[in-house]
Amino acid sequence: MSNVTVCVRFRPLSSKEKRDLGDNICIQSMDSETFIIKDEKEEGFTFSFDKVFYEESKQADVYEFLVLPIVRDTVNSINGTIITYGQTGAGKTYSMEGSNILESDEKKKGILPRVVDGLFACIKTSADSTKYTVKLSMVEIYMEKVRDLFDLSKDNIQIKESKTQGIVLSGATEISLSDTAEALQSLSSGIANRAIGETQMNMASSRSHCVYMFTLNQESISEKRVKSGKLILVDLAGSEKVEKTGAEGRVLEEAKTINKSLSALGNVINALTCGSPSKANHIPYRDSKLTRMLQDALGGNSRTALLCCCSPSPSNASESLSTLRFGARAK
Ligand code: ADP
Ligand code: MG
Repeated sequence: MSNVTVCVRFRPLSSKEKRDLGDNICIQSMDSETFIIKDEKEEGFTFSFDKVFYEESKQADVYEFLVLPIVRDTVNSINGTIITYGQTGAGKTYSMEGSNILESDEKKKGILPRVVDGLFACIKTSADSTKYTVKLSMVEIYMEKVRDLFDLSKDNIQIKESKTQGIVLSGATEISLSDTAEALQSLSSGIANRAIGETQMNMASSRSHCVYMFTLNQESISEKRVKSGKLILVDLAGSEKVEKTGAEGRVLEEAKTINKSLSALGNVINALTCGSPSKANHIPYRDSKLTRMLQDALGGNSRTALLCCCSPSPSNASESLSTLRFGARAK
């Protein structure tokens, strides 16, 4: 089985989409893996993925199929990456955080709070002879600059490679987490800082990538050995095309930078899934901060989950098609 799992999630129609076009959707479901999408010229395109989550899908469905196996692997010291991709408004953050990171409604909880629960649950059930530590760093990548979301004054974090720890965010804050409540508080403060920083810079959160990095260390008391697993979650910047006419100045620069890093991500995943393992094929990790940061959690033994988020509305069909093509290329 491939180490890359690619799923698609269609959110329900928004009230605006309903107001404009009624209950029209451009998706025809075939089964849980295959559907047809019609473009604005009514031409149909068939896509198949590891799993398709249609509008009525639950947060728990996404977690159990796509994320839980990777959480279990993290506990076995296998690194993993979970990425949400799609145009702004397609449901990336809803899938990742839920409508709110501190969401109390169990049904609405997103991937992050479930990951936190999952990690601490795995720790609880394992042997007493092992000492666990869970650490969290949160950074934002904007215009190829990495900023620490636990300390906004650290606005140019460097990505380095260490022999013992692999890829590290040099100098970035790492918060030790002892339980779920503490983890949620930390996530919540990072998310709040992100909003503060963005207001200061007059920037929309949809124009930056948000990276949540969990490190799980296991110290075997008897064997004096430390094993480590890294789980990285990425809520990507919106993949939408910016109107070529009209966009200028910073908006155009932002769009170009986002486009470049999303292509770099696509190229890396593509090289990983297409390359024959016998041939030492070149994986272009160094083409963007994002792929460099993910280097040791993407490829090799690591497991990768890509959730392509789409609107089901005909008014967004061309962006949805471009998201689906990105996903199809990653398989
Ligand atoms: P993105 O992060 O991709 O820009 P959001 O996650 O913010 O998009 O989603 C846009 C809007 O759609 C939000 O109001 C969100 O609550 C809603 N939404 C997204 N996905 C779902 C879903 N699966 N079920 C219900 N509402 C959703
Ligand atoms: Mg978002």
